[in-house]
Amino acid sequence: MSVALTTIGFDADDTLWQNEQFFALTQDRFADLLADHVEKPDLMARLMQAERRNISHYGFGIKGFTLSMIETAIEITDGKVPAAVIAEILDAGRDMLSHPIELLPGVQDTLAALRPDHKLLLITKGDLLDQMRKVEQSGLRDHFDAIEVVSHKTPVEYTEIFRRHGTGVDEGLMAGNSMSSDVLPMLDAGGWGVLIPHGLTWALEHAKAPDDHPRFAEITDLTQLPELAARCKSAD
Ligand SMILES: [Mg+2]
Repeated sequence: MSVALTTIGFDADDTLWQNEQFFALTQDRFADLLADHVEKPDLMARLMQAERRNISHYGFGIKGFTLSMIETAIEITDGKVPAAVIAEILDAGRDMLSHPIELLPGVQDTLAALRPDHKLLLITKGDLLDQMRKVEQSGLRDHFDAIEVVSHKTPVEYTEIFRRHGTGVDEGLMAGNSMSSDVLPMLDAGGWGVLIPHGLTWALEHAKAPDDHPRFAEITDLTQLPELAARCKSAD
């Protein structure tokens, strides 16, 4: 049976371009700053706890990450962290907000190959200003029919976005490196969910793969997506 697949959504961070590696570099810098107080593994565990606590207040992105680093530094030092260290943490956050864009291999060719037969959407979460900066610097803007920066990737969001820009979520596919944000909510909404794992993926984005879901697929890199999209159309 032939089915319609009209619209493809792409996650951006660690799907189209590198992102998590910059967080990892900043975490190293953060650990150096507090090396007199705590070992790195303990510090990372405390930072992760702070990020989890704060996600509903700050959302996803570098600004919230920076605030969580500051909060963790205050906790670890029992409130004695010097202002100079806070200033260094703020510098580290600002550096992240201006890091250069490094596209993942094959991104441009893949988007160009899919463009003639599909509407292409970029769907990302994070700080609006930072995500739009990255889109502009990536040079990928013109490959997309629409760009959506959302607070959370939920089934309702996907349903809305694919209705607004496509022909409904059941004729849509979402591809990304996060099982919990890019794949599972899209499957729940009734679309295809395609996981493209990235070596570095933030712990909060991990989740168990669905068992035998007919609309779930995993590919090893983005360049396999055109072939997969063609297969989605020939068998559902
Ligand atoms: Mg991602």
